[in-house]
Amino acid sequence: MNIILLGAPGAGKGTEASKIVDTYKLPHISTGDIFRENIKNQTPIGLLAKSYIDKGLLVPDEVTCKIVEERISREDCKNGYMLDGFPRTIAQAEALDKITKIDLVINIDVDFSLLLDRLCGRRVCKDCGETYHLKRLNGETKCARCGGELYQRKDDNPETVQSRLSVYNDQTAPLIEYYTNKGVIFNVDGSTTPEAVHELVSAKLDSMK
Ligand code: AMP
Repeated sequence: MNIILLGAPGAGKGTEASKIVDTYKLPHISTGDIFRENIKNQTPIGLLAKSYIDKGLLVPDEVTCKIVEERISREDCKNGYMLDGFPRTIAQAEALDKITKIDLVINIDVDFSLLLDRLCGRRVCKDCGETYHLKRLNGETKCARCGGELYQRKDDNPETVQSRLSVYNDQTAPLIEYYTNKGVIFNVDGSTTPEAVHELVSAKLDSMK
């Protein structure tokens, strides 16, 4: 099954993605993670991506689409995959339609008023990518899952978050209508808990087996 996780920054795509991976063993393709890995390794793609990511802007479609096309052509994706954070523009969705068939788009819907706090308080494990909220860490600096160091993403600061949310509104939100028209969207209320979201998503995925 080929799945897309759609939602604003901070909606909980990454959290739900790791739960889906645990249960359904699908390769998890996060364009944000791919860019961060390239930035860490100082590759040409990383240097280019950083100049956009630091401003809360989208990396150009040509670059992003090429990366995804190469990634989903690999052997481990032949029985399905889960895209997290791609597509983020109509042009990316159209490019994807040319190379693959999408079975389900899970749209995690969260009120904008919650997103700023979620993103600015977010801490991420540098080893396994698990995310936490500062309020619930009680001073803990290590990941409860793997013991890795927790850090704050550079783009999770109030100024960059505002820009990311407005980019989402302008360029990514139109994808909800795009995929609704294709009849493949599944809307979930993401303002509840990660467990409640996963219960609804699992029921949907199980019904499609
Ligand atoms: P994420 O980890 O999904 O929040 O992505 C972090 C940043 O990487 C985004 O704010 C964008 O700058 C960039 N990025 C990730 N995915 C895409 C995409 N599909 N298209 C363009 N830029 C992207």
